[in-house]
Order: sequence, then structure tokens, then C-alpha cells
Amino acid sequence: MEVLVKVVVVGAGLSGLAAACHLTAAGHDVTVLEREDVVGGRAGTLRLGDFRFDPGPVVMTMPELLAAPIRAVGGDPEALVPMERLDPAYRAVYPDGSELSVRADMGDLREEIARLCGPADAAGFDRFLDWLQEMYDVEFDTFIDANYGSVLDLVRSPGTAARLLRLGGLGALGPKVASFFEDDRLHRIFSFQSLYAGVAPAKARAVFAVITYMDTVRGVFYPTGGMHRVPVGMAHALTDAGGTVHLGVEVTEVLRRGDGAVAGVATADGDRLAADAVVCTLDLPVAYDRLLPGVPGPRSTRRGEFSPSAVVWHVGATGRPGPHLRHHNIHFGDAWDGAFEALVDRRELMPDPSRLVTVPTVSDPTAAPDGSSALYVLEPVPHLGSRLDWQREAGPMRERLHAFLEAGGYPTDVVEERLVTPPDWAAAGMHLGTPFAMAHTFGQSGPFRPSNVDRRVPGLVFAGSGTTPGVGVPMVLVSGRLAAERVQEYAGAARPRTRPAGVAR
Ligand SMILES: Cc1cc2nc3c(=O)[nH]c(=O)nc-3n(C[C@H](O)[C@H](O)[C@H](O)COP(=O)(O)OP(=O)(O)OC[C@H]3O[C@@H](n4cnc5c(N)ncnc54)[C@H](O)[C@@H]3O)c2cc1C
Repeated sequence: MEVLVKVVVVGAGLSGLAAACHLTAAGHDVTVLEREDVVGGRAGTLRLGDFRFDPGPVVMTMPELLAAPIRAVGGDPEALVPMERLDPAYRAVYPDGSELSVRADMGDLREEIARLCGPADAAGFDRFLDWLQEMYDVEFDTFIDANYGSVLDLVRSPGTAARLLRLGGLGALGPKVASFFEDDRLHRIFSFQSLYAGVAPAKARAVFAVITYMDTVRGVFYPTGGMHRVPVGMAHALTDAGGTVHLGVEVTEVLRRGDGAVAGVATADGDRLAADAVVCTLDLPVAYDRLLPGVPGPRSTRRGEFSPSAVVWHVGATGRPGPHLRHHNIHFGDAWDGAFEALVDRRELMPDPSRLVTVPTVSDPTAAPDGSSALYVLEPVPHLGSRLDWQREAGPMRERLHAFLEAGGYPTDVVEERLVTPPDWAAAGMHLGTPFAMAHTFGQSGPFRPSNVDRRVPGLVFAGSGTTPGVGVPMVLVSGRLAAERVQEYAGAARPRTRPAGVAR
């Protein structure tokens, strides 16, 4: 295959590796530069004593989006990143002590809903599934899996926009989900996913039900050995196909030619690497601040609304998980809309927080020594735009999480632990200490999200959660492919006589 352009990808997170795979598949000469000593970024790995933790994403959905970049370079996704579907996907625990198993099979889930909430809601579930499927079919190709030239691109598919309107996609998510079910417990389990996109269910647009579709219908998976297997498998596929990954190399600047176009990158070691195109996967505001002197970020990167952050408490404890525990356990607080108003609007700790407890040792004993458990407790908290002082908050937060685990019957004889708070995310290069980037409000989603190209810097393309399509593993994998397409366009425009090979989907 003909080598078209030399591309440097800054960052070996999931978006960077996806972009690198697609670009290598298209015949480009690709070098990935990663600051850390491991690939994966937020999907890296954390070892505390003999315990192994996933530091970031734990809910793996849409494995076919991961398969695309791996297959593009000739890799075998099943062999490189074997994974099992979790059943149940989640165990939901409600304040009254009742529980719902979000079963993997939709027939089983319907039965579970009938058991807990009655036949009317089971029938509502059938209608809900039809609606979810239609929403996903309408949305994916047009609003997620596409590069936008401008907001005007929205009118390029007026039929799609009309279908979306008819499905109520632009109305509020919470009330839309509530229209299918009587039982408040179902409203919660089928709408909390909007928080992954940084927006409270009452305020999120119903289009974000696509996240509910991805986990509830398409399933939650666990890669063998943990989430870090995902980037490791991608990096193997990439390097086997001729791409290069350099670890422990920090990029300090995107170098530019006299006409403003990219010329390469400079590194902290004083090296300069020439490149025709650069794919940059840093958190977007940080990318502008640190790597692009003299190029202010778009207004939204400076003034936009950013998602709430999260505290994650990693715990290695003696004792195996009890039989009532599942891999993912969601504990809903009593407060709902009020809790999100505190978190998002007033930027306070949730008075009665909902929390995710992931216990990988339920399905994977290798995460902990014999007879022990690895636990991951996530509580949404405000980003650093709040008045909270984490020097003071961290201790009491740890004590509350410990008491909460104890009350829930989790192993709590702690032998290893780490509490990760918003200042830690900020230190790792995430704007305002949130790992979830700019919130997916209506005005910051789809064609309104910061573009993955900047006209002032030809040849520079962004990928990752700050740009299109958005945050989360499925979205950043797509962002890598969209970035690769942008490089293709650039290569084609710069060399009109060379026809770039297609970017594999
Ligand atoms: C606690 C937490 C829980 C989450 N839960 C989920 C979940 O359950 N499901 C889900 O789908 N998503 C989840 N997410 C979101 C998901 O992890 C992210 O959206 C995604 O991993 C981001 O990938 P990325 O490639 O955009 O960025 P990153 O993973 O941050 O990759 C950027 C890379 O660039 C490197 N880098 C930074 N600066 C430089 C530099 N100057 N030079 C060279 N390299 C540099 C970084 O080290 C990093 O490796 C979660 C995230 C967190 C933190």
C-alpha cells in the first residue's frame, strides 16, 4: 500500500489508537507518541500491591466499534480482546431495598420487570425497546458517525431530523422514559445513563437514550483481564501492521509552518518530529493551552459547560464478594432530580448520592489475591468550578464510602486503597478536573460540539471526548475514525493527484 503522509498521533488512549489503526490501514506512516509508560490513557491500569484495577472506564459497550479499527489493520478482535457479556449487566439497588437485575436477554429482563413492577410496565418495556431501536437507527449514522462541515449539515438529511422530532428526540429524556413506565424505579434505571454524558436525566435531550440502548440492549461486556486489555489489543494490532508507538514521550508543542499548517511536534526531550498531519487527543481545552501557543481555543472550550466529575475509590479488601453482589452494582439514592440539581446546577456534593460499585472479582478472580476482592466505587461530584476543597473533603468522603460499602454487604477489610478526586484528574491533564469533558447539552452536541478540525491550523485534527462525537468508549472510538477521515481529506486536498485509500469502517 502506498504511503501517503506522515502522521503523528499525540496520545495512546482509545481515540488515538483508533485513529492510528485507521490511518495505518489507509497506508499512512503513523507514529503514536504517548506521555505515560503504558497505553490506554483513562483506560490505563492501576496496581496496588497484588490488586489490579481499571482506573477509568469499566462499563464496556458496543464492542463492534472496537472491532472496526482492529480489523482495519488485519487484527482479530476476538483473539486480541476476548470479552464476555455480563449477565446481569447491572444490579440496581433502590432505597427501599428492592433490586432489579438488568438481564442480558431482553425476554429475561421483561420477566424481571413484570416481577418487580407488574404487567403494565412489562408491556411498556416492549414499547420502550421499539422506541430505543428506532432512535438508535435514526441517530447513529447521521448524528454520531459523521463529520460535520458546519451546523448547516443538519439539513443535509431533513428526513432524519423529521424522524427524530417525531420520536420526541429533542424533548427531555426523563419525562420521555417516564411516559413508558409507571414505576419510578424503571425511570431511574433507563435514564441514569445521561449522566455518562454529563447531563441530568431531567435536562438531557431524549436523543441520549442512545446510551441506554447501548448498555441495556446491546449489552455490557467485560474484557478478559480488565478494560486495559482493550488498548493493549489495539496497540498490538497497530504495531503488527507497521504502526509505531513510543511510550514515555511527552509532546510539548504542535509545530507549524509559515502558512500555519502543521509541520510536526516538539517533545519534552527536545526532539522535533516532522509530520504532514497531527492527530491530537488531549482534552481539548488543554490541547489548545499547552500545545498550540498563539491559537486560542474556540469559545466553548473556554466558556462551555463541563460535565460533573467523579470520585473513584479503589479498594483491595480481604474476603470474596458475597453471592448477592454482581460485577456492576448501581445504588440509587432516594433523592433524584434534587440530587442532580445539587450536583450540576449548584455544584455541590449530592445530598443523597447514587453510586456505582464495580466488583471485577465477581467475574475475574485474577484482579485480586486468593480470597480477596477488588472494588471500584464511583460517586459523581462537581468539577473544580465548585467551592469544594478536596484537601478537606477527601477524608470524610472516604469514610462515607467505607460506611456505604459496609452497609451494602461488600468486603470492607481494606488492605490497599486509593481515592481519586477531581484535583487528580486535573493533574492528569483534564480541564476543570473532570474526566468527562464538555457536557452533552444540546448546544454542545452533534454539529454544535467543537469541531475536530481548526481552519487556522491545517493538518491538525482532534480526536477524543472533547470533540465530535463525544465522551465514552464508543464515542471516542468513533472519534478516532472520524479523525482519520479528516486526515484523508487533508491528504487528498494537499496532493490532488494522489487518491487516498478509503478509511475502513
Ligand atoms: C472514572 C472514569 C470512568 C469512566 N467510565 C466509563 C465507562 O464506564 N464507560 C465508558 O464508555 N466510558 C467511561 N469513561 C470515559 C472514557 O474512559 C473516556 O471517554 C475515554 O477513555 C477517553 O479516551 P481518549 O482517547 O479521548 O482520552 P485519554 O484516554 O485521556 O487519552 C489521551 C492520551 O493522551 C496522553 N497524553 C496527554 N498529554 C500528552 C502529551 N502532552 N504528550 C503525549 N501524550 C499525552 C495521555 O496520557 C492519554 O494516554 C470513564 C472515564 C473515567 C475517567
